[in-house]
Amino acid sequence: MDLTLLPPDITAAHSGFELAVAACADLDALMRLKGEFTGRDGSHAARMMDLLKTAPKEQKRELGAAINGLKNAWEESIKKRQSELEASKKRGTSLASSWDPDLPPPMPAHGARHPLNRLMDRLVDVFRPLGYHVEEGPETETEAHNFDGLNIPEDHPARGSADTFYFAAHEGKLLRTHTSPVQVRVLKRLAPDIEKLGGIRFLAPGRVYRKDEIDPTHSPMFHQVEGMLVGHNIGMHHLKGTLAYAMKALFGPAADVRFRPSYFPFVEPGCEVDVRCPLCGGSGCRVCKGSGWVEILGAGLVHPNVLRFAGIDPTIWSGFAFGMGVERTAMMVSQTPDLRLFFENDQRFLKAMGGLD
Ligand SMILES: [Zn+2]
Repeated sequence: MDLTLLPPDITAAHSGFELAVAACADLDALMRLKGEFTGRDGSHAARMMDLLKTAPKEQKRELGAAINGLKNAWEESIKKRQSELEASKKRGTSLASSWDPDLPPPMPAHGARHPLNRLMDRLVDVFRPLGYHVEEGPETETEAHNFDGLNIPEDHPARGSADTFYFAAHEGKLLRTHTSPVQVRVLKRLAPDIEKLGGIRFLAPGRVYRKDEIDPTHSPMFHQVEGMLVGHNIGMHHLKGTLAYAMKALFGPAADVRFRPSYFPFVEPGCEVDVRCPLCGGSGCRVCKGSGWVEILGAGLVHPNVLRFAGIDPTIWSGFAFGMGVERTAMMVSQTPDLRLFFENDQRFLKAMGGLD
């Protein structure tokens, strides 16, 4: 299209036309623009038609083609923009109100590891230098792995259908209630080679299920990290030394541990492990309820029956095991009052937790 025959103000208007159309945020603005370019009186198009009438005969043909080309291009663009704006009006959103050619383009948000996964990763990183590797087990388990192999008696309340999700159609199948069945699986698998390996040590992070109502501190699905070591003459001092090291690596040099006697069927003796409150350093705060300590782990020396069930001789081998609630620890460290925030995946929360850019 030859525009050299047209007056310079019209060619200038034409060069800014597409930008002006895109900048129309609503139909009113677009109609004003339409009037300015293609309206009946005083528009650029009308002026061009006047020009055509008075043009020398030999130019008429060429000029007419240029004018028609421009008019058609303008009408086309305006029509296209009009249908866009009408569609966005129907959706109730403003398509172009925020359109500003000077702003940098919107960047897609980057994904990132979930805060719970990052905490589990950190724990794995703490234990890896101590020779622990990661083991995983199925979330659908058998009663044998989830209870029998862990010395949990037939009449233990945890085995009841009030606490455990059983699969009605599959006899003896359930959703694992803790990560401890991974102990049973790994011990059984490695038992034949334990002499050659000189012992067993691993970490088992994963999802577990219990019939809990959802509230700020409970969820029917949550995460645990299980740790286990089997060797010769393993005692409580090994457990305490290992956990003291791990808690310092996780929470900083002030993080001391203390043990309180407790009972779990798969350990003897069993204990609950408190760590010096990482938030107040032990002076007392809301999170530790003024005590300076927070309960964070269950642990103990592996019960001989657990080793025996897996085919390992408890007179030769001994070990310790510990388990940590991931959500509970994450809530404490981040002072998050409601467990559900970790599962709703609201990007504002994840961002605040440092999980997103
Ligand atoms: Zn505290």
